[in-house]
Amino acid sequence: MTKKIIFVFAVFLASCTSNKALKHPLDKSKSKTVVLENGLKVYLLSDPSFNVSAASVSVEVGSLDNPDDRQGLAHFLEHMLFLGTEKYPDVDEYSSYLKTYGGYSNAYTASDHTNYQFQVLPDGFEGALDRFSQFFISPLFTEEYTAREVNAVNSEHQKNKLNDNWRQFRVSSLFAKEGHPERKFGTGNLETLGDITREELIRFYKQHYSANRMGVALLSTHTLEEMESWCRQYFSSIKNHNLDRNKYDPNFLEKKETFRLIQIDPVKDVRNLNLLFSLPATRHLYKSKPGRQFGFILGYEGKGSLLSYLKQKGWALSLSAGAGSETSDYGNASVRIGLTEEGQKNYKDVIKATMDYIELMRSEGHQKHVFDELKSMASLNEIYASKGEGMWRATQLANEAMMYPLEDVGRVNYLYSDFSSDRYNLILDHIRPNNMLAMLIAKGVETNKKEHFYEAPYSYTEDDAFYKELIVTQTYEDFLIPEPNPFIPKEASVPNRAFKEDVYPEVLKDKKGVKLYFGQDHEFLRPKGVIGLKIMFPKEKMNLTHRVHSKIYAKCVNESLNEISYPAKQAGLNFSVKEGYEGIYLDVNGYKESAMVLYELILKHMVDFSISESQFSAIKDKTVRDYKNFALSDAYQQTREVGMELFMNVKYSWEESLPVADAASLADIKSFGESLYANTFLEAMVYGDFEKSDAKKVISLFQEKTNTVGIEKNEAFNVEYLKLRQPETIQYTNKLLVNNSCFYREYLIGKDSPDLRAKTKVIGTALQQPFFTEMRTNQQLGYIVGSYPNNKDKNYYLSFLIQSGEYSADDVNQRAEKFISTTQQIFDEMQDETFNQLIKSEIEKLEKSPMSISERAMKLKNIIFENDADYLRDQKTIDALNNLQKKSVVSLLNQTVSPKTRRMVNVLSFAENHENTTGAKTSFDDLAKWKNSRVYE
Ligand SMILES: [Zn+2]
Repeated sequence: MTKKIIFVFAVFLASCTSNKALKHPLDKSKSKTVVLENGLKVYLLSDPSFNVSAASVSVEVGSLDNPDDRQGLAHFLEHMLFLGTEKYPDVDEYSSYLKTYGGYSNAYTASDHTNYQFQVLPDGFEGALDRFSQFFISPLFTEEYTAREVNAVNSEHQKNKLNDNWRQFRVSSLFAKEGHPERKFGTGNLETLGDITREELIRFYKQHYSANRMGVALLSTHTLEEMESWCRQYFSSIKNHNLDRNKYDPNFLEKKETFRLIQIDPVKDVRNLNLLFSLPATRHLYKSKPGRQFGFILGYEGKGSLLSYLKQKGWALSLSAGAGSETSDYGNASVRIGLTEEGQKNYKDVIKATMDYIELMRSEGHQKHVFDELKSMASLNEIYASKGEGMWRATQLANEAMMYPLEDVGRVNYLYSDFSSDRYNLILDHIRPNNMLAMLIAKGVETNKKEHFYEAPYSYTEDDAFYKELIVTQTYEDFLIPEPNPFIPKEASVPNRAFKEDVYPEVLKDKKGVKLYFGQDHEFLRPKGVIGLKIMFPKEKMNLTHRVHSKIYAKCVNESLNEISYPAKQAGLNFSVKEGYEGIYLDVNGYKESAMVLYELILKHMVDFSISESQFSAIKDKTVRDYKNFALSDAYQQTREVGMELFMNVKYSWEESLPVADAASLADIKSFGESLYANTFLEAMVYGDFEKSDAKKVISLFQEKTNTVGIEKNEAFNVEYLKLRQPETIQYTNKLLVNNSCFYREYLIGKDSPDLRAKTKVIGTALQQPFFTEMRTNQQLGYIVGSYPNNKDKNYYLSFLIQSGEYSADDVNQRAEKFISTTQQIFDEMQDETFNQLIKSEIEKLEKSPMSISERAMKLKNIIFENDADYLRDQKTIDALNNLQKKSVVSLLNQTVSPKTRRMVNVLSFAENHENTTGAKTSFDDLAKWKNSRVYE
């Protein structure tokens, strides 16, 4: 333990040397670990502050374990476990049960493990555990669904096929060592799995699924005793085959005295340089965290950093670095650099500088202050940060239970008890040119091969001459190892305030130009806070140029702030400067000690940012490419965007924005920034461990720095939405450049009221699972299938979305239409008990309370600024739910979807390779003209 940094929370640190977790006095959680007789490792966490219960099972088998002639099998088996067990044979059972109790589930297959997870409201926890545990006891693997589900895995691959990250991951794996499992194709498709049999699934399952290879985590408000008894009851019959751990060759990359370069021609106009290094096992070094120290120093963005140097040269936009374990036998380190056009031309210099910076890291040795800072932040976070709840936390904990000694589960991320230089040096020792695979992903690179599964064009070359340059190191005056971080909190302690609930923010200022809310936290008692500003501008300012310039302006401000603000981020202070149609959003949140200092710094850069011409041209170039790349993004994203063009009074497409961005100069954006704040309306909230005087200072600082003149709120631009007539069907069809079609439909349900919100919630939840089961599991239309309610301002809608690689948009449209016309039956066939449970779950979801100051602040901000500070809004919805009749829900649903009364917007996007065979038409000739003829409110 370090003596150098003394904190006020030293009282807590006293327990640090033992294995006891550091806890906040309000943290009432309790944990326990158990190993069942079948060898299953269990971690239980009981916490009265949880809103939901969650569980996860991590199994030590993954894509690396696929048989050579069955690539994708581990992933396919993951899908199949959801589709029926002996005790619960119905394919729908598990998901419907979870939906009824306000929950949902997921799973993923990684290299060396597969994880299954769900979350549910506490009342449904035991029943969910019963259904879930059967996955690992008696899955059915029915022939019917084995044959069908292959299509879902294939759709998943179709979706990934045009994704540059997946492509790059796949192509790099081709250059793993001969015979190493890293070379395998992990996800699978029809070609590798099309003729799979039930027997093969059973064989693989028996060969790899065994209780002694599993870790389980249960998180709930239920007591540890209750959870332990459920665990024994439901998980004890998982068979233990006493399997050995899967072992892998620790070197996935051969050492070679040459420069190895893969060049990939991407789908989108991206420009990335990735350097990959093979590492020995590091998972067991979790008390030293050498990978995190490596990533911290190389990925630093402050003064003297590698990124600062690359930016100064005009070569890079971004950089991230990290090192960690891929399996318990080996790991990897990687450096990812977002290049500029110049950077692409000079990519060898970029690599050279990177390797030389790493040489500096080697010669400067192990950095005690970096280790201490990481350790201090970890201790602070263990006490004061929100650890969250639900299935993602469960996932992490189950993985820890499977991968680490049980006594450290729950603390793996916080432990820094071993300051050993040899561990850090071990990593640096492997970051050498002979252990490196370089990848350049950019348009126009030379390629001469095509990867089989993704059809990605690539090339591979070896360059001995450049290798010789790389091994001769060079020193740079600009390079520095990060200096001690001034933002690390030094006085963090539990605020001295009474614990109270239901304390609402009050209005501190309400006059022309400003509305300020202030609230002190009495609920979490953390030394943290949130400053949130929405800066709105006069209506007459809104036009295409304003919109595009504001986008580039926000990026310039962030770039200008980057070097100075980076240490603040490392010290647990987050901030963002974003723009949207309705204005500029500024948020600062984290340890309050330095929050005001950072806030003032941000304002300074907002009114007068300072970046070089080369930094500006890199930003502009990225903006232009992002606009162009939009036509190549996932079909469902493009389709939803088109939908918003119909719905919003002002919305500019990427096609019209592109030339404006292309023509912008640094001087343009500078003068945009200078005049931007002349007239504003400011909505602000200051919340957390602050005083009233801090809140007032937030406003006075803003006014002082910007010299703004206030306007009335109704003079500021705000988005208005399409007024739909009743009945009305608006359809929009378009052609995409990608290989998936998309069907997207929105029905207007009605205007906001407690009763309407209540009904909308019930309808949304009731339809979700049946729609998914029919469209995805039974009809296998595509991988992305969903239905959900949403609102735009005061109107509520019901949406349906299907992305399909196999079926064209009009075909999917007809199939969805058929399903939607029968939705009344879902309620007709629903037993009263299920209906009542559905309502109960919706109530419990609304009763969920935020888990941290920033979550609370976000919720309050939404209520204040979007919903007229109606703090009792959720309670009113709950009251309406309590009075809900099935009859009236069905009548609203019918009125919403019936062709006679519906108010509907239907967007059909056709894949490049799909025909519009039914002749589905757009309801108007010219979008702009049509919008002019419509009412937006
Ligand atoms: Zn999958």
